[in-house]
Amino acid sequence: MFENVQPAPPDPILGLTEAFKADTNPDKINLGVGVYKDANGTTPVLESVKAAEKTLLETEKTKAYLPIDGSPAYSDAIKALLFPASSPVVAEGRAVTLHAPSGTGALRVAGEYLASNHPESRIWMSTPTWPNHAPIFTAAGVAQEAYPYYDAQGQKLDIDAMLAALDGVKAGDVVLLHGCCHNPSGVDPTPEQWVAIADKLAEKKAVALLDFAYQGFGSGIDEDSVGLHTLAEKLPELIVCTSYSKNFSLYNERIGALTFVAPSADAAKAVLSQVKTVIRRMYSNPPAHGAGIVTTILNDASLRARWEVELAAMRERIQSMRSKLATGLDQRSVQLSATGNGFLTTQRGMFSFSGLNKDHVQKLRAEYAIYIVGSGRINVAGITDNNVDRLCDAIAAVTK
Ligand code: PLP
Repeated sequence: MFENVQPAPPDPILGLTEAFKADTNPDKINLGVGVYKDANGTTPVLESVKAAEKTLLETEKTKAYLPIDGSPAYSDAIKALLFPASSPVVAEGRAVTLHAPSGTGALRVAGEYLASNHPESRIWMSTPTWPNHAPIFTAAGVAQEAYPYYDAQGQKLDIDAMLAALDGVKAGDVVLLHGCCHNPSGVDPTPEQWVAIADKLAEKKAVALLDFAYQGFGSGIDEDSVGLHTLAEKLPELIVCTSYSKNFSLYNERIGALTFVAPSADAAKAVLSQVKTVIRRMYSNPPAHGAGIVTTILNDASLRARWEVELAAMRERIQSMRSKLATGLDQRSVQLSATGNGFLTTQRGMFSFSGLNKDHVQKLRAEYAIYIVGSGRINVAGITDNNVDRLCDAIAAVTK
């Protein structure tokens, strides 16, 4: 069976990390994979997480299985992070939240649920989008369509083209939107544009699927929820896939959640029961540790306050590196777009479409040991006070 198997091509982003690790240049810079790095270039465990883990270790009494949909305490804590208590979807019992193994796991479970229960539904994705979206929904067996999103000339959302394309959506189709910090472009809808998008989906009787992997990385926990809250206000049905890899820095714990908003509490319960059958045949029930950490932090006022400070520090460091990169390029008279480098500071989250082309990316890697994915998307969190000058010098050299 295995004799003639050909090796699969390396994952384009994770493969870059392998190449980076193997590079012996002491000044190498990794702007590839989407992991937050602090000022020292490391991805430390948050103090709030360490404290929660200490509590868990002291109080844990069993390693028995969790329920298929995870612990109710975790689901309640996540629902409260997503929606204000006054929100009708919570008050009317129209939202159900399940514990999923990471954002990727939540997306895959959502895909399996759609393929099993709504086989006619297609999923619409932005161009560009996170490169794993298409493979996840292909593997689940969900048909796909694309809508334009990023205007590369203007470094902005092409809202007119997006809304025009969404005219092709059929009732019961699903439209995937990024909750905030759009990956890879860093460009999010404004509050007014969220209203226009929600109105369009309502008109088309479409279901929104919000991939919300960066809550708190853009402008703040509540500020980043404007899209979610607008959609929840205007649409009767919603799927929300959340990840706590980034905002709790829990990458290797694989912790996320899947929330369904239905038109009634009974419909929400029925959907929950169907999703549980999907999970049962995929991985039976979720891993406990990451959920224990997140629940402990969110339910303890002092740990939560500590986490919010740590989250703000990550967000602010990213914003400060965006400014330093833009200033450094300005000082070297390098313009990454026709309108200058200002777009670097208005984009949100870890990612930026830098405007660097394939040739620049190749030269940066070969000549300067600077690793960037081929699309020119950079992870701004890979920039530090120590490497920003070298980075700007290298960009100036390759773009001359
Ligand atoms: N969705 C988007 C847009 C992402 O950027 C990522 C991670 O990079 C994920 C989902 C998946 O997150 P997780 O690591 O929790 O699976």
